[in-house]
Amino acid sequence: MDKRKTLIFLRNFSLLLSLLCIFVLFIFLLRFITNEIDTNDEIKPPAEVRHRVLFISSYDPLYFTYDSQIKGLGKSLYPNGIEYDVAYMYSDARGSASIDQFYSFIKNRFSNMKKYEAILLGDDAALEFALKYQSELFPNMPMIFFGVNNYDLALKASRNPYISGLYENDYLEETINLAISLFPERKTLIGLHDQSSSGKTDFEIFWSLREKYPEYSFVDLDSSLLSQTDLVFLLAELPKDSILIYMTCYSDKQSNVYSMLARTSTVVRSASVPIFRNYVGGEGMGILGGVHMDVEEQCYKAGQMLIWALGNGDLSKMPLDAHTESRTAFDYRLMKSFNLDFSLLPKDTIFYNRPESFLSHYGKILPTIIMLFVTLIIILLYSKVGKMISMTYIAELKKSQKTLLDSQEQLTYQAEYDEILDVLNRRTITAWLRDKMKLDSVYSVVIIDIDDFKMLNENYGHSLADSILQYIVALLKGMVEEGGWKIARFGGDELLLVIPDEILDMDCQTVRQLFAAIRAPIPLGDESLAITASMGASCSDGITPAEQHIINAETAMYEAKTRGKNGIVIYDDKMKEKALEEIRIKEKLQAAFDNDGFFMLYQPQIDTQTKQVSGYEALVRMKEPGIYPGQFIPVAERSGWIWRIGRITTELVIKQLAAWRDQGKTLHPVSVNFSSNQLNDHGYVDFVEELLNRYDIPPHYLEIEITEGLFLEKSVLADDIFRRFKDLGIRLLMDDFGTGYSSLGYLTYIPVDVIKLDKSLVDTYLVDGKDSFIRNIIHLMHDLDKNMIIEGVEEERQFLRLKEFGADTIQGYFFSKPIPADEAIDFTVS
Ligand code: C2E
Ligand code: CA
Ligand code: CA
Repeated sequence: MDKRKTLIFLRNFSLLLSLLCIFVLFIFLLRFITNEIDTNDEIKPPAEVRHRVLFISSYDPLYFTYDSQIKGLGKSLYPNGIEYDVAYMYSDARGSASIDQFYSFIKNRFSNMKKYEAILLGDDAALEFALKYQSELFPNMPMIFFGVNNYDLALKASRNPYISGLYENDYLEETINLAISLFPERKTLIGLHDQSSSGKTDFEIFWSLREKYPEYSFVDLDSSLLSQTDLVFLLAELPKDSILIYMTCYSDKQSNVYSMLARTSTVVRSASVPIFRNYVGGEGMGILGGVHMDVEEQCYKAGQMLIWALGNGDLSKMPLDAHTESRTAFDYRLMKSFNLDFSLLPKDTIFYNRPESFLSHYGKILPTIIMLFVTLIIILLYSKVGKMISMTYIAELKKSQKTLLDSQEQLTYQAEYDEILDVLNRRTITAWLRDKMKLDSVYSVVIIDIDDFKMLNENYGHSLADSILQYIVALLKGMVEEGGWKIARFGGDELLLVIPDEILDMDCQTVRQLFAAIRAPIPLGDESLAITASMGASCSDGITPAEQHIINAETAMYEAKTRGKNGIVIYDDKMKEKALEEIRIKEKLQAAFDNDGFFMLYQPQIDTQTKQVSGYEALVRMKEPGIYPGQFIPVAERSGWIWRIGRITTELVIKQLAAWRDQGKTLHPVSVNFSSNQLNDHGYVDFVEELLNRYDIPPHYLEIEITEGLFLEKSVLADDIFRRFKDLGIRLLMDDFGTGYSSLGYLTYIPVDVIKLDKSLVDTYLVDGKDSFIRNIIHLMHDLDKNMIIEGVEEERQFLRLKEFGADTIQGYFFSKPIPADEAIDFTVS
């Protein structure tokens, strides 16, 4: 039991935990997705434009530094509300004619220069253009340049009061230093360049370094003097011990200008020696590496300069910025394949083609994945624990399987047989007749009622009366077996016979034999006892359904009694008393409905251990005397009126609870009975809820008693009503437990809180030698966490025994009969 509680705790805990995990997982996912989006478009144009400037680019959008320029500019300009347009000079393609061509283009295209507050100039050609047309096109307009290789030009421009900017540093020396330290055994440095202005600058610096490294031979390779084919050929034939320094070299002998990408791909395909480069671009294509200016950083700085100028900064006081940070970038894969020492490179070197580590590749999604795993594991734990719980249930049930099986067998027997006489019971014979006997079957139904059985009971005691019945059954057994009859106990002292293939009349042989058996003296010690019986018979007639024959036989039996007992009456159509009686009760019911003709009695339910009242069962009565629930409830059910009684009793009970409360009494739960036919009263639950609200009664003070059979039908309608009661907070009691069904398994899943053990089980089993069955049932219920009310306890002996068995609650005449409300609320056990 304790183990199960721990497991249940664990299960609930893991459920909670997994919900939490799912929540956290959700947050992680959300963060992951939004992060992705954030990094995707880091630089957004400003929502609100405060300044507009023009960026004149010397080249075109495909130029290799262009992307880095745009990034750097965007980073500084956009957050400050500065938007820019771009005009491309295509100076590579147009050669020296470019400045003039661009002049006419820009004059047409940007006739209204006034809409720009400043000019950005990317690379040398743009600066040259700006200087040439400053007074005509950009009078008094602040201008910032960047990416200018020609130091003299940059210096000259920055002396202009409206212009300042950044010189594009050449990191050739740093590149060559690294090349030499990585390949100390290679003694030839090949400098690849052209005759463009940056190509020339490159060459000059390259050449100047000769003196610094006297033991190296410097070779110059000018692409402007070579055709593409020559270049490819020469690169393929480079000396084995050489290093190629790939600088500015985009033009050839025929004045073709190649894009950086096209050139790089030619160079890396042709040369087999290590290739170094002092400019950005072409990384990862086969260039080993190098040091170059950080273009993005420079443009960022240019942007800052522009912001300063737009904020009325005086550009005449802004000197040329001749130092922009460098970046060292190397190809990781090539470093490996040349087997080079990584420690020779600066700490902040950027590597291309680096195989991504697991962490850097999956780093961002990793927490989400781990969380997902944790969640899955906890959910797994949850289902595992759930399984373990049901295993312990099964194990516990198995442990008590012996008792269970015994109890079950006994229950089956109890449900179908009468224990004392060892013959079928009323319910079983009724069902059997209904199932087996068709309209065209030929048979007779006989009900035998011992005359003055009450007196026998009083004179000789219960057990002797039972023995007499047993004796008669034993005498009849021979005839029953011989004729293939059925015999059943129909009530206290009533037997029912079904005699197939025979239509009885008053003095046929069968009837004579029956009387002979019954009237035979019963030996009783020295004496003998003669008894008589009244019999009623009803015979098949091709039109009357089997169940009606039972009713008819009973009617006939009563008729025999009134005719003076000790005889048989065969039912005939004139015998309508029973029907008439039913009509009479119907009329009384109708009147009672119209005239508030019902009231409730309350039978206290007593806690076995404390002997305190723990609740009441409300039982309906008619104000009209002489009509009892056993009479009018079945009539109400047959006529479809039971739902009205259901509503009337419920309202009376809730009103009573309110009255008790208003009198300041301590309330206890009151249960009302709910008949199966009330299932059709679809509005009942709403009705109950409305009453509870109206009288402000907490729902746990009302309980509903439902007969065992209704739980077992498992109809959708019933399930729905049970669920709605539970949702309201109303407890369900199972009434008449032990009269209906033979298996106990269903108790584990039906929604009842309390089981009421039927009086018939108490009567039959709560006697010496048999009562372990009752004890087993009580223990089984407790294992299933159900409370038990034992009904029909009439004697102290029974109470003491039940107390010993650990029964929870007792309801019976021993403590109190059903009593009026005023008495009930103050009832105490004396
Ligand atoms: P039940 O629901 O099984 O109610 C218990 C019956 O056993 C009550 O009979 C009660 O007076 C009786 N009883 C309680 N303790 C003892 C005892 O120690 N010895 C004996 N011999 N009897 C005991 P009652 O009030 O005559 O009701 C009979 C049946 O009529 C009930 O059986 C129930 O099925 C039905 N009934 C009574 N009131 C209502 C009601 O308000 N609504 C519905 N639908 N049915 C009701
Ligand atoms: Ca009841
Ligand atoms: Ca009952």
